[in-house]
Amino acid sequence: MTSSVELPRLVNWINNQAQASLAPATTAQFLTVTTPHTNAPIAEVPLSTSEDVEAAVNAAHAAFAGWSQRTVKDRAQYLLRFHHTLTAHMEELAELIVREHGKTFDEAVGEIKKGLETLEYAISLPQVMAGRVLEVSRGVVCQDARVPLGVVTSIVPFNFPFMVPFWTLPIAIGCGNTMVVKPSEKVPLTMTRVTELAKDVFPPGVLNIVHGDKEVVQPLLEHPLVKAVTFVGTTHVARLVSQSCRAMDKRCLALGGAKNHLVAVPDCDVELTAQDVVNSFTGCAGQRCMAASVLLTVGPQPKLIQAIVEKTLALQPGSASRQVGPVIDEVSRARIQSYVTESEETGAKLLVDGRSNSAFVEKANTTKGSWVGPSVILHHNKADKALHDEIFGPVLSIYECTSSEEALAIENANPYGNAACIYTTSGAQAQFYTQRFRAGMIGVNIGVPVPREPFSFGGIEASKFGDMDITGDGGIEFFTYRRKVTTKWAAPVEKSWLN
Ligand code: NAD
Repeated sequence: MTSSVELPRLVNWINNQAQASLAPATTAQFLTVTTPHTNAPIAEVPLSTSEDVEAAVNAAHAAFAGWSQRTVKDRAQYLLRFHHTLTAHMEELAELIVREHGKTFDEAVGEIKKGLETLEYAISLPQVMAGRVLEVSRGVVCQDARVPLGVVTSIVPFNFPFMVPFWTLPIAIGCGNTMVVKPSEKVPLTMTRVTELAKDVFPPGVLNIVHGDKEVVQPLLEHPLVKAVTFVGTTHVARLVSQSCRAMDKRCLALGGAKNHLVAVPDCDVELTAQDVVNSFTGCAGQRCMAASVLLTVGPQPKLIQAIVEKTLALQPGSASRQVGPVIDEVSRARIQSYVTESEETGAKLLVDGRSNSAFVEKANTTKGSWVGPSVILHHNKADKALHDEIFGPVLSIYECTSSEEALAIENANPYGNAACIYTTSGAQAQFYTQRFRAGMIGVNIGVPVPREPFSFGGIEASKFGDMDITGDGGIEFFTYRRKVTTKWAAPVEKSWLN
């Protein structure tokens, strides 16, 4: 095992320069970053302080005047160059994601491509962010234009080291803001490399990163020059961040956790549904806010359940295509397995018990990594904790409902509201459920119903605190205010012109 003394030490990127954290020597200055494949240390990430925040925000503020004065067409050219740079480094970035997060290579490339879609949308800002103009009465013209806010910040989670920062970064910068990103301390390598690459693209101060854990978040939220905050993470923290920003009258969009319900009605296509459900709950080892968590069957559906069990049992641990990678760390592994144990203790039937899956057990034993076999649980008790809590791992809970009303009542009672999906071959069934689910993002035969640009991403209830959505046109709305100009010219209007 590498000694911590030899580990590469990450740095903040401020003003296009690598900057060691200003944390005083008397405090803890670094956190060890590990790879979930083996739990071996791979780097040290600085625990930045309010002094680092001050330096980054000041750099972003100094850059704002020049950056915001450029035309949107000009800024789009920078974004286009950024796209070329990132595409040229796609493989390198994907390997970093695999290493620090544990995703398979295909999943890592998939998340980069999804992040680049938001960048592509931002490159089209000259076409899509134009304001409006209307003569509201003779001689009086109203117009509005999008104006950037200033310095904005994004605080991001561990589960998408590239994609989630790219939910905000391209649109924020494209609209003329400057930015400070706080990566997750669990996966800081990818964004460090991205920002290093960005220094050859953007003017100094436009994009900055400050590393650290929760201690560096409050100074970022509170900094008076930070005009808007986006946060993505657990519901508990999203709520805290949102409340903190509201108390300061600061614009904030804080996305929280999820517990997504999928409903399968008797006319569903068994093969399509089984494959999609398995992809949804095991993809990225279940560490997606859009992952399937609870499958509600309307009536008993033994063929569907059997197909799900067979497909789950066929999954192997690894980093290759269609394999399942490890979860982020041992804390997560223990939490995920405790839900399986508790379900068994409360009378649920383990159709697939990931704890005893020999391939995953052997992988965990030989590598010492955080490998967790996928589990499928058939619940009989609606109060089981696994049916309610966000587990954030490869666990599917199944509950057999007696009617569509019961399925909808369960889905509607869930305090989260990120995603829901209906599996059916009937348009009428699809319409019935899509009109009644209480979730921000709804799928028909798609277990991960992520809206793609120009549509925006966002749940409701405990999955989102804030009034707007992220990415797409919601991103433009969030990262700008509308400057409304009303004009009246003194020039007389000839009466004859009006006839
Ligand atoms: P987390 O809440 O632990 O951490 C997210 C970020 O907040 C990190 O940068 C972390 O350093 C910081 N942080 C942690 N505790 C904090 C505190 N007390 N005060 C201020 N900042 C704090 O989340 P995570 O474990 O990294 O990510 C997984 C969670 O993110 C899951 O709940 C998942 O559903 C959610 N998520 C939601 C969406 C969505 O779109 N709704 C998308 C991705 C992930």
